[in-house]
Amino acid sequence: MSSSESAVEHALDTSFFQRWLTAAAESVHREAARLTELDSAIGDADHGTNMQRGFAAVTEALEKEPPGSPGAALILAGRQLISKVGGASGPLYGTLLRRAGKALGDAAEVTPQQLADALRAGVDAVAQLGGAAPGDKTMLDALLPAVEALGGDTASFTAAGEAADKGALATVPMLARKGRASYLGERSVGHQDPGATSSALIVAALAEAVR
Ligand code: ADP
Ligand code: MG
Repeated sequence: MSSSESAVEHALDTSFFQRWLTAAAESVHREAARLTELDSAIGDADHGTNMQRGFAAVTEALEKEPPGSPGAALILAGRQLISKVGGASGPLYGTLLRRAGKALGDAAEVTPQQLADALRAGVDAVAQLGGAAPGDKTMLDALLPAVEALGGDTASFTAAGEAADKGALATVPMLARKGRASYLGERSVGHQDPGATSSALIVAALAEAVR
């Protein structure tokens, strides 16, 4: 295969991003009760409803004002999440997607490597905004291993989903140092972080969007 053929095969266009965000919304919808249950153990029992409301707004906006580029799709989704999710996670997820969208600029198609780099920039912005470090029992514990696993081909999307899942599971024994769960101190230990769990769903949806 020539390099131009493989570039075409791996090109991610606007419809890939629409499929990704739609798959993420379906997954969040399906798992909303579980996310809320996790948040009832170490938070205020609203993470599932927050995320479901936010992602419903994302899919509605994608239909009403179809974005013209991958970057525009992520910026539109980020804007909806900031205005509709609320809580701590809304601004953090909004920042993740808006920052990644800005990094992609107005290119009509991007490579998996460009998406990986954009998401890395988004995750860095989440760390900066929330001030959390790895091991603090937050969404970063799923997002950081995910962006580490992302690379130059779409096969890395599956690896990123698995890494995020593993990262979310690894939050169980952690002591929460950020967000509402941190108010519980030692009592936060033994529960999976809801935000890390929703992050794993969103990352896993990447592989679902590949055709
Ligand atoms: P709230 O805690 O305001 O009710 P949510 O329930 O929607 O908001 O989201 C809680 C999740 O947000 C947590 O499980 C955690 O993963 C994430 N989170 C909270 N604070 C931070 C932070 N400072 N940095 C990164 N993630 C955070
Ligand atoms: Mg909550």
